[in-house]
Amino acid sequence: MNQYMDHRQIADEMELYCLNEEVGAGLPIWLPGGEIIRRELMAMIEKLEDRAGYLRVSSPPLAKSSLYERSGHLSVFRENMFPEMKVEGEGQGLFLRPMNCPHHHLIFGRKPRSYRELPMRLAEFGQVFRFENSGALCGLIRARSLCQNDAHIYLLPDQALGEIRRILEMNLEVLALLGLREYRFRLSCYDPSRPEEFHGSAKDWNVAEEILREAMNDLGLSYFEAPGEAAFYGPKIDIQFGLGDGREESIASVQLDFNSGAKFDLEVVNSKGVREVPWIVHRAPMGSFERIVAILLEHYQGRLPGWLSPVQLAILPVSAELDEAAFKLAESLASVARVRVLRAGSGSLGFRLRECHRLRPFMHLVLGKREIESGLLKLIGSRGEFLLGRDEISRWLENSLAVSNSNSRNVVKMEGI
Ligand SMILES: [Zn+2]
Repeated sequence: MNQYMDHRQIADEMELYCLNEEVGAGLPIWLPGGEIIRRELMAMIEKLEDRAGYLRVSSPPLAKSSLYERSGHLSVFRENMFPEMKVEGEGQGLFLRPMNCPHHHLIFGRKPRSYRELPMRLAEFGQVFRFENSGALCGLIRARSLCQNDAHIYLLPDQALGEIRRILEMNLEVLALLGLREYRFRLSCYDPSRPEEFHGSAKDWNVAEEILREAMNDLGLSYFEAPGEAAFYGPKIDIQFGLGDGREESIASVQLDFNSGAKFDLEVVNSKGVREVPWIVHRAPMGSFERIVAILLEHYQGRLPGWLSPVQLAILPVSAELDEAAFKLAESLASVARVRVLRAGSGSLGFRLRECHRLRPFMHLVLGKREIESGLLKLIGSRGEFLLGRDEISRWLENSLAVSNSNSRNVVKMEGI
């Protein structure tokens, strides 16, 4: 049994991201391999969100202090924010944003809205900054700069239940596509003994919490409750993932916010012509791309599903005279897979096999004279060995690297861990 490896070790071996003292602690820099994984995840979720009617927006990662006074972040979240930036000649300072919500509320509130536009789903891969203590930092799991798979959905209260169900269904689809099954749902509620930390009346909290319970019951999801773990603006459902070493990390959350609409003076004219304050759902099926990459790396110990692998096929020619044949083969497969040749000139075959192990390609093949003469190639990966004819390999790769086909254990399991 191989020893369980932390995502930092795996990412280091695979060269996915780095930290640099001159940039600063907790500020990961994505390297080409890691950026491939991040972009594949973004493309996958974007497709699902497009299909579900999300509208994409893009906003700057900082704003004036008055925005965060209004949102409440400066009164309840300030210790997690970077210090204020003072700008000479301007009355107010600027803050790096800890969350994307306030920007999105301003987008919704920029003109009068009708009930016909709802639910309005504003999505952004939003960069946020959290001031974590240096002792709490942990690779990609806990960083000071992160990019969230964020969206805010503006709706009327009677639309909340249906929308939360749709969001949970999207969450289940994402988990299935990623091949993640070891998760459980947590309902994070408010704590009546600490009313100063939670905005809004007890009655509103009960109504909102009940909607989240009902949505999970409708889908047959079992969950446990965590009093006092809610966001300050509303209750939330967290999806908790169990890692191989017994740790549990939040992957995703769905938050029902009945407070921020009034704070941002948001209004919708309902079907009776009356103005109403909309509710807002905050949701992020992948949480942040930093955290989900860390979780995937640990769960798969770097042996990612094919579509996510930075190197999908590594070719190792046995001797220098076969380097050219290896490059030709790589070129012929370049349109279906990310191929890397570990050429003979770069060291002994044993050395290159260790390199291959470090890079953790989805598949690798050793190219010798016998393979060239017979036209039969043996692809070796964590899911087994496959003997394929030279003309079958392209189609086989195309099929194995499809997102929908990437998870051989494509079964959604709902029980607790
Ligand atoms: Zn939000």
